[in-house]
Amino acid sequence: MKIELADYCIRCGLCEDLYPDLYKRNYEEHCMDVLYEEIPPELEERAAQSAADCAVAAIRLK
Ligand code: SF4
Repeated sequence: MKIELADYCIRCGLCEDLYPDLYKRNYEEHCMDVLYEEIPPELEERAAQSAADCAVAAIRLK
């Protein structure tokens, strides 16, 4: 599983606040970083929950 963030992410930071094991604010590039290229199996459920929690549905799972 991979996480992709859509361009229309509003950088609210909620995903990092709730899932700091998956996301981190990138202040230099004004975007959010996903901490894994490939999501570890043990974090897949949290990744799916983070996608459900994003208010603008900017988190896509592939
Ligand atoms: S919760 Fe959604 S909109 Fe907010 S920073 Fe994360 S991906 Fe972007």
